[in-house]
Amino acid sequence: MSAVPVPIVGRTASSVAEVVESGLCVGCGLCEAIAPGTVRMQMSEVGAWRPMPVDAFTPEQEAEILRSCPGVVAPGGGAGDRIWGSSTTMAMAWSAEPGVRFRSATGGVLTGLGRHLLASGRAEAILHVGPDPEAPMRNRWVISRTPDEVLANAGSRYGPTAPLAGLNEAIALGVPFAVIAKPCDVGAVRRRALDDPRLAELLVATAAMVCGGQSRITKSVAVLDDLAVDEDDVSLFRYRGYGNPGPTRIETRSGDAHEIGYLEMWEDESGWDLDARCTICPDALGEVADIAAADAWPGGAPTGEDEGFNAIVVHTEVGEELVRSAVDAGMLVLGDDVTPAEFDHLQPHQVRKKRALVARFEGRAAAGLPTIATPGLRLEACAAELPADDVEREIAGTKRRAEAGRYTETAVRLTD
Ligand SMILES: Cc1cc2nc3c(=O)[nH]c(=O)nc-3n(C[C@H](O)[C@H](O)[C@H](O)COP(=O)(O)OP(=O)(O)OC[C@H]3O[C@@H](n4cnc5c(N)ncnc54)[C@H](O)[C@@H]3O)c2cc1C
Ligand code: SF4
Ligand code: SF4
Repeated sequence: MSAVPVPIVGRTASSVAEVVESGLCVGCGLCEAIAPGTVRMQMSEVGAWRPMPVDAFTPEQEAEILRSCPGVVAPGGGAGDRIWGSSTTMAMAWSAEPGVRFRSATGGVLTGLGRHLLASGRAEAILHVGPDPEAPMRNRWVISRTPDEVLANAGSRYGPTAPLAGLNEAIALGVPFAVIAKPCDVGAVRRRALDDPRLAELLVATAAMVCGGQSRITKSVAVLDDLAVDEDDVSLFRYRGYGNPGPTRIETRSGDAHEIGYLEMWEDESGWDLDARCTICPDALGEVADIAAADAWPGGAPTGEDEGFNAIVVHTEVGEELVRSAVDAGMLVLGDDVTPAEFDHLQPHQVRKKRALVARFEGRAAAGLPTIATPGLRLEACAAELPADDVEREIAGTKRRAEAGRYTETAVRLTD
């Protein structure tokens, strides 16, 4: 059994209730997989998936969850570049299939790899997410068994997702499978594989997107409100894709279509309605995954539409073999190498956040809130690059927000 590592600063949460109540749950869905039938992921009052109820676990179930929960532990890859970790390849890449490249969020690397995993027989199932056909603004976990199904679920979904609520169904198939998900989800899967031999045996690869944070459903609801569209009338809610970045597109059953540009949606970070855990995400860069795929806009924001270019970081031998075989099979194109310093320039907001994390943990700890254990993520080295004035500002700002209840949520307990 894996033990929960000690965090750099403070302490980790001692119960799932504390994870939720202190704003560290990102709604990954692992709770439901470990305690099926007892706990379900449901939309909470803050507008995010949360395990409900939080006091029905057996002590054994709760201990198992806490060993893998992203609100408790975020594993990294160990030594390497202080921000990006160890890698075998850092390069530009995109899908070699023009239709895949066009429909996907960026350049179609994640969809291309998922398709290649299935087409080559390396995997027989992909656990990932897609729009809920009954409520297209919302998301659900999906298991794709064919390359076409992987493509049908291409594109970034910016609202709440709980991919690991489907973990048991993926394991129950009894076939080799891969997970494509956010870094926090992949971290939970990798930790869980230490405790679950069947998962360790069947999980053949993991791929993650570099992730700026998960919006709560309130962000999507506000978009519909601005357009005066009733959610029951929505037949399509595509956050991006069909171009890079492509517009957010909403279609209604009554025949209307609306498009919102990427910058109009996302330029003002204060309007993202992010889950609290995202503001202290230790591995938003996905170094826990075999492969991480990012946007590749100099300075971090698009200046227009292009054909779709990912920047990728390959972290493991499994990832390296997968990428090379996808290139050989004509499914993926590898472009120029990208140095760690060039990656910093493509993701300046991520670099700033990673440097600030230890200070933010200190602010939480000073307010009595738990932090996250970060084995292998080199956060002390990142923190050493944060100017002293910023250290004080980050600690004080996080403590102030914590004491003002900005990270506090109400967890649902059983009623008598
Ligand atoms: C919430 C969010 C925030 C992001 N922030 C950044 C950022 O700050 N910087 C940056 O460089 N890139 C960011 N990205 C990544 C970027 O949008 C692309 O996902 C990435 O470049 C991969 O592109 P692609 O064309 O290979 O993806 P695609 O080929 O379109 O594949 C996307 C895959 O991811 C899965 N997926 C989509 N949304 C989710 C989700 N919410 N949770 C779990 N799985 C999902 C899909 O099922 C699909 O398999 C973010 C993505 C998301 C979902
Ligand atoms: S982050 Fe995942 S494992 Fe942790 S409490 Fe939330 S749903 Fe459960
Ligand atoms: S920022 Fe981190 S915690 Fe938030 S969704 Fe992305 S990977 Fe998960």
